[in-house]
Amino acid sequence: MKIIEFLFPKQCGFCSRVGFEICPDCLKRLVTTLPTCCICKRLNNGYWTHRQCLSTPIQCFTGWYMSEKIQNYLNRKKSAGIYSSHLLLLNKLIVRLGVDRNLNEYSIHQIVSTDITTNRLNRYLAKKIGDTDLSKSHFLLIGECIDRNTDVKQLIEELPHREPLICKIICIFEITQSKDLNHSH
Ligand SMILES: [Zn+2]
Ligand SMILES: [Zn+2]
Repeated sequence: MKIIEFLFPKQCGFCSRVGFEICPDCLKRLVTTLPTCCICKRLNNGYWTHRQCLSTPIQCFTGWYMSEKIQNYLNRKKSAGIYSSHLLLLNKLIVRLGVDRNLNEYSIHQIVSTDITTNRLNRYLAKKIGDTDLSKSHFLLIGECIDRNTDVKQLIEELPHREPLICKIICIFEITQSKDLNHSH
């Protein structure tokens, strides 16, 4: 048995059911996000940014709203450097978005975060999904979430210059202030 498995036996993080990283019932209860613009956070079709928010619109997909309970659980794992739940959710999201079918068209980068543990997680996730091959025509930025300190415009500006810019962002979670968005119904 690996020390990691000893510290965190495979058990659903949300309901403690044994044998699952996150069990199917709890996965179903996660609240899927509504499509919003990642700059102004207002609704917009297809997770696109508004033209008035970004001159070259991009899509920033988010998967689920992160309740306080989920956040507490995942933050403990994140601090311990255990990213299996994050990776499971990210892979589910990538399949749901259909991006898995053409991942090889993208140069894959992490969302740079000012928080060291989040930055480490995002680097891990991006590496797991693909490489940063700059000969690819499209960019895909990957991370846990876009926190309040993350400037999306700056993230995009820091990418190698490319015209036209074709960039997608995938975040597992959208941070919400609401406490009643926990996964119990
Ligand atoms: Zn569960
Ligand atoms: Zn907007």
